[in-house]
Amino acid sequence: MNSTISRTPSVETRKKLRKEVHFGCPVKGCGSPYLSWHHFDPPWNIDRHHNPNGMIALCLQHHREADQGAFTVQQLRDMKKQPYLKERGDFPKGRFNWRREQLLLLAGGNWYIGSEVILNVNGKNIIWLSKDKEGFEELNLDIYDSNGDILLSMRDNDWLIHAPFEDLECPPSANSLKLRVISHDMWIILRFSQLSKSELYDEVKRLSSRVYQDIREYIRRTWPQNNLTERIQDSMEFKEEQARKIFESVNEKIEDETITLCTIEGHLIWPLNISLDKAKTILPRQNILAGNFMVSCGVGVRIT
Ligand SMILES: [Zn+2]
Repeated sequence: MNSTISRTPSVETRKKLRKEVHFGCPVKGCGSPYLSWHHFDPPWNIDRHHNPNGMIALCLQHHREADQGAFTVQQLRDMKKQPYLKERGDFPKGRFNWRREQLLLLAGGNWYIGSEVILNVNGKNIIWLSKDKEGFEELNLDIYDSNGDILLSMRDNDWLIHAPFEDLECPPSANSLKLRVISHDMWIILRFSQLSKSELYDEVKRLSSRVYQDIREYIRRTWPQNNLTERIQDSMEFKEEQARKIFESVNEKIEDETITLCTIEGHLIWPLNISLDKAKTILPRQNILAGNFMVSCGVGVRIT
């Protein structure tokens, strides 16, 4: 028995296991995309292994049932061969249960509060918010492949994948989603988290400083180097007061001590190529948008 091995399998093993079940819990009638890793042949308490042949991806509920012996080894083997979503010919779908009166969004290095539309491209909403009956904000998305066919849609926090993809990673805590479609060079990461005000201030400061580093580096790589461009680079210096201004705007808008942050990163390819980096948004023709704070805008970023 190996007593030092971590209970979490390697990145490769996790990817293999979720792909095997078509990215949804394989138990009949379930299909939840929020997956954990069950060791059954042999069980973890007999041998601490990460052999994918003796493991299966299950949602947390069915993982608990499996731990108590609800499924035989043969039944688990059958589920690995014929998981529920494969049998149904369905793509994964799920829900985020994060609803807040006021959500803080960070998408491509720009901050948004109370903005109905985060990103609109050629008249199409790509990322936007809706309010439910009780006044809680929920997230909406339409993400397309290079032919303009829908790949991932989200309405009021309910999401659905519409076409084949490379990888989908959703932890059992159901606070994030990573979707990757290599054939179309498209990926998106969504994450909900709770921050205290001091954690938020640190995050704003860290990101504001990174915006300047990123843009200086970008200018150095893409602009001809002469006295003028060097002076522009030198003038782009991070000042803490800029981070303080963003933080104070958030502080004014959200009274609660705890902030709910939804972070969106990705590379979108239709209707236009748009990169939502951690610290900046790169638009077509190498235009960069970063470090902005948008409060109660009808539309945060509109590109036509
Ligand atoms: Zn399940």
